[in-house]
Formats: sequence, C-alpha cells, structure tokens
Amino acid sequence: MLVPMRILLDHAAENHYGVAALNVNNMEQIQAIMEAAKETNSPVIIQASRGARKYTNDAYLRHLMLAAAELYPEIPVAMHQDHGNSPETCFSAIQQGFTSVMMDGSLAADGKTPATYEENVAVTKQVVDVAHAFGVTVEGEIGVLGGIEDGHGAGGSGLDHVTDPVQAEQFVAATGVDALAVAIGTSHGAYKFSQKPTGDVLKMNIIEDIHRRLPNTHLVMHGSSSVPRELVDLINKYGGKMKESYGVPLEEIKRGIKHGVRKVNVDTDNRLAITGAIRKVFAETPDKFDPRDYMGPARESMKAVCKERMIAFGQAGNASKIKPVSMATMVAFYKK
Ligand SMILES: [Zn+2]
Repeated sequence: MLVPMRILLDHAAENHYGVAALNVNNMEQIQAIMEAAKETNSPVIIQASRGARKYTNDAYLRHLMLAAAELYPEIPVAMHQDHGNSPETCFSAIQQGFTSVMMDGSLAADGKTPATYEENVAVTKQVVDVAHAFGVTVEGEIGVLGGIEDGHGAGGSGLDHVTDPVQAEQFVAATGVDALAVAIGTSHGAYKFSQKPTGDVLKMNIIEDIHRRLPNTHLVMHGSSSVPRELVDLINKYGGKMKESYGVPLEEIKRGIKHGVRKVNVDTDNRLAITGAIRKVFAETPDKFDPRDYMGPARESMKAVCKERMIAFGQAGNASKIKPVSMATMVAFYKK
C-alpha cells in the first residue's frame, strides 16, 4: 500500500527507529526491496533519482511501484523523489504518484553549483506549498553533501559545506519541510572515506546539535552505505577492479538514529551486492546466457543487504503496526 512518507517517519520517531530509503531503477531491485520488507515486516521507502526516472521513462517505474503496492497490501510503502533539482522535477514526480519529494535546493537547478541560502529557501518553500496541498511529504537539504550521484552533486569532499545547525533551524522555520537532509561529512558513491571514519571526518556531533534544536524535524542521512568489505572483495575476486574504500559504519548510523535520524539513504551497498553476484555467475558458469540465471542471484544478494539494513535500523517488525493514512487525510493535516 502506498502511503505518504511523513507517516512512516512519524512512526519511526515515536518508536525510535530509522527507515532505509532504497533506490530503484528496475524490476529486480524493487522486488528485492519488497521481499526483504515482507520477510522482516518492515515499512519501506523506495526512492528514484532523476537518473532512475529517465532510465525507466517514468512509466515503467510508475507501474513497478503500483505493482509493489498491489502485491504487498500489508507493507506501507512511500515512493520518494530523490534529489529533485527544481520545483518542476518535484511537481512531475507528484503527477506520477510519488508520495514524497526531495527538493534539493542546496544546489542550483544544474545539480552542481552550490546555491545561496535565500535561493534554497525560495525553491523549497515553493515545493512545500504545492506538495502539502496534495498531502505529499517534502524533504529539504541544508549544507552540501560530498561526491556525485547519478550526475547530481557538487563533487569534492563531504566536509566542504557541512550543515550549520543555526541555519538548519532557520531553514525549517522558513520552509515548513517535513524532513531535512544534513551534511555531516558523508559523500555519495562507493568512495566516501580513505580510512575508517572518525569524528574528524564524520560529524555526528552536528546531528546531535541539530536534533536538539529541531526535535520535531525528521533528519535524513544521505550517502549512508556502509560499503561492506566482503561485497567489494567479491567483486574484485571475480575480475572487478574496485579501490579500497570505507563507508559509514552501521554503529555510526545507529548513533544518528538515537539523535533524530529517521531516513537513511542506501544505494551503493545494493549496487555492490548486485554486481558481485552477477560477476560470480559469469566467472563460475561462463556457459550461462539466460538473464534470469544472473539477475535472479543478483536480486537475492540485494535482498540480503536490504534485510540486514532493515533489521539494523530497527524498522523490522513495524509494518503491521502502522495505520495507513490517505493522502486526503494528509491534506487536512497540513491545512491545520
Ligand atoms: Zn543523496
């Protein structure tokens, strides 16, 4: 069942857990997420980047998400636009039936140039006004994340534009966003840190400060793949050439969840799981040529990662406890 993302985050906040937001581009990925959610009784956030919407021509993606809602009526699913670069992108996502959008006004519409605070407030407020009139949840971003994901990002280190907690407080008051992505040193992609991150590079104390100032705003951690060693090793064992890298350790994410983080974006780990599984089949059974022979194991491998994250973040066991709320109810909620 498709639900507004806000109700998942509210339930997570009331019950002190986090929800993984998992990216999709194709059928096997959405199947992996939904099976993982079913097996662990987890509410889920499925998200699509602009790149994913282009790759699927919107229509394939829309029907995949409707199929998920039809096949798993017992699982509350939020469908979220990841990193909307402009109000137009967010509005077209709402037209496609997304129940949540991210207006990433931390960057200009080119998705590369850091925007000013005033520009960020203006575009984000514009999206909040329209989205809330449809009952759709809005995530904003203050500070700029490192790295590049699907062509979106300022590049550079995650420490270049760390979120200022005072500005975060002003931003939420000025825009009315439901959720706020914060930059604490994380980056998109597989190469986040050159060694296991410490407090110098991963600023968890900033999350704690922001949560003290904004106890009712759901915080979002982007770039939160853990980049497990065994997945990178598997890829390299079967002919891959990935450099050594460190992601965000699960214990740091759990610390964030203790301090107001309710949405945790994970994409790279699933990409690694898929690629490792496919390489293994290709290397061990080079005679195979039916796509199901490698897409099937890839789906299984991604499902295992999703289940692990759902259990670690605490969302497991909560799907059946969430009362579905219609978009119309949310419209009334926002009017108050
Ligand atoms: Zn992101």
